[in-house]
Order: sequence, then structure tokens, then C-alpha cells
Amino acid sequence: QPELAGDFGTLMEWADQVRRLKVRANAETPLDCQTARDFGAEGVGLCRTEHMFFDAARITAVRQMILASDEAGRRAALAKLLPEQRADFTAIFEVMAGLPVTVRLLDPPLHEFLPQQEAEFAEVATAAGVDVDTLKRRANELHEFNPMLGHRGCRLGVTYPEIYEIQAQAIFEAALDVAEKSGEAPIPEVMIPLVATRRELELMKAVVDKAAQAVFAERGKTVEYLVGTMIELPRAALKAGEIAEVGEFFSFGTNDLTQTTLGVSRDDAARFLSAYVEKGIYAKDPFVSLDVEGVGELVSLAAERGRATRAGIKLGICGEHGGDPASIAFCEQVGLDYVSASPYRVPIARLAAAQAALKAR
Ligand code: PEP
Ligand code: MG
Repeated sequence: QPELAGDFGTLMEWADQVRRLKVRANAETPLDCQTARDFGAEGVGLCRTEHMFFDAARITAVRQMILASDEAGRRAALAKLLPEQRADFTAIFEVMAGLPVTVRLLDPPLHEFLPQQEAEFAEVATAAGVDVDTLKRRANELHEFNPMLGHRGCRLGVTYPEIYEIQAQAIFEAALDVAEKSGEAPIPEVMIPLVATRRELELMKAVVDKAAQAVFAERGKTVEYLVGTMIELPRAALKAGEIAEVGEFFSFGTNDLTQTTLGVSRDDAARFLSAYVEKGIYAKDPFVSLDVEGVGELVSLAAERGRATRAGIKLGICGEHGGDPASIAFCEQVGLDYVSASPYRVPIARLAAAQAALKAR
């Protein structure tokens, strides 16, 4: 870890000797993963796969998938995306060398994928063999007034299960490839986003398990894996006891959980939140430092209810708060297993986790 050499490196070693919380990173490229490891990350807590889909080389196929009017059309586009997804995961598993990697299945606000320019529609039309007017009609049908509360997260997987199926296939094929090549099997943690109900998770877990069985049967080998969920909606926090009947781990998505609990848009909050902080309505910006009394109560209640159903269920946090020292102190109190922060915040998180552990002594 050359970046953490000298006295600072020594301090980090001391921190590691006292902290209980593990520290992972939010990372979705091999470079981010390497940076995270150099800073001492002990795994990937959130690999956001939608970022991979924005890649210039594959956005046309992604748009083709989203705009397809039926399953066959979506599968045709997904067949183009599969080799690239497999390569994405292979590269990440290689860098992470057996450390846990939580891969979150697709969670895009759909509008971000829709073509805007004529040229973009024309490219999709050529790729899909469909005329531009049909695509534009379809894009209109997909328009949402409030995309952050719309057809995103597992709702996409519920309506188009083939998307999650192909992503899961890519994850398991990559895991087997890396296991064969390096002799060290990754243990993927497949994470379903924006779950509100047990049934959603049950349906999505079935899709992932089926994809795993198909890959394992074809390859004649298996890898261990977990299927779990983000807890990022108040309903999911309240029903965590039921959700833990299906989910093998929880990761608190405190960005969305803050947005949906406070009813404040995470993208527009800047307009008025500073006035709120000035007037003492919130002590700090709740999107930076966890609103411990409100959102925190949902986190602690969900942790309790999850554990009551599934003793020892693995619990983490992957919202921005995972890199904020005050929020990390709260995570220690609630007894989470790990925090996940952006790679450059990993050292801060290691120190904050140590301070929190010392305080708890
Ligand atoms: C979250 O909502 O806290 C989260 C980690 O997911 P995203 O920021 O990608 O919505
Ligand atoms: Mg989220």
C-alpha cells in the first residue's frame, strides 16, 4: 500500500487493530477496485452495474434492450451485452482476489438510457432492425414524470427478468473463469436493488438461482454465492423481518432511504437544505451525515428485525454515509458488519471505525 506508507501507514495499522467494522469500497471498475485495495478496502460493498451500461461502446445495445417491445427483442440485445458484462466481472474478481464482491443488479432511472438525439435513435434503429418512428413511440411510452420513484431497481427485474438473468449468468461465468484461472474462487454477493416487499426479492432470487444452476450445470462446477438486498425504502426497513426470510444479507442504501424517508429529492436538496441546517431543522446535511434520529431508527429497526429472522445476517451500508465518520459511529452502535465507502474515503472509514470501536469499549 504505497499511498499509506510512513507514519500514516502506522496509524492505519493501529486503527485496524482496534476496529470491529470491516471497510469495503463502492467500486465498479478494475481501476477503482485497485485503488480501493491500495487504501486497504476488504471487499467491494457496492458494484453499481448501471455505470457499466453507460459505456460508449455498449450504450446502443443497452438502448436497444430498453426500447425493445418484447422479450425476444430484449434477449437479442442482451446477447450482445453478455460477453462484455462477463469481462467486467472477471476483471473485478481478479483484482479483488477472493475478497467479497457485492454486485448490484441493474438499477437505472430508465430515462438516463433513452436516446435523445436523432443520430442516437438512428443507431438503435440500425442495431435493432426497427424503424425510428417505432422507437420514438416506444421511448414516449417509457417516459416517466418521476423516474427516481418509477420503473427502476428490481421493478425493472420484475417486468423484464431476462435482464437480471443475463447479468447473473455473467457473474457466475466470470466467477468460475476466475476460480479456474487463479485457483481462488470469488464469492459473489448478488444484490437486488430497491426492494420493498418479500415477494419482489423472492421472485428476483429465483431468477438468480436459476441462472446459477444453468451455468453450474453447463460448466460442471459451482461457486458459493449469496443473494441479498438493498434496504433503501422505508417499507423494506419495516418488513426486514419477512425480507430476511429470503435475503441472505442486507446492505443499507442510505441515499435512497434518506430520500424516501424525508421525502426530499437527493438530486434537488441543495436548493433548500442549507437553510434547513442554518435554522437547526437538521443538524447536518442528511445526505452527507446520516439523520440518526429518523433514518437511523429505520436502519436500527431493520437490523434488529433482520437478525431476529436470520441470526447473524450480514449487514452493511453502501450509501454515501458509509464514508462519513459520524455515520460510521452510528453503524458501530447498531452493530453492522461493514461500511462501504468510495475508494478515496476508505482510509477515513478505517480510522472512523477504530474511533467508534474505542468509544464503544
Ligand atoms: C443508495 O441508495 O444509498 C445506494 C447506495 O444506491 P444508489 O446511490 O446507487 O441509488
Ligand atoms: Mg439506491
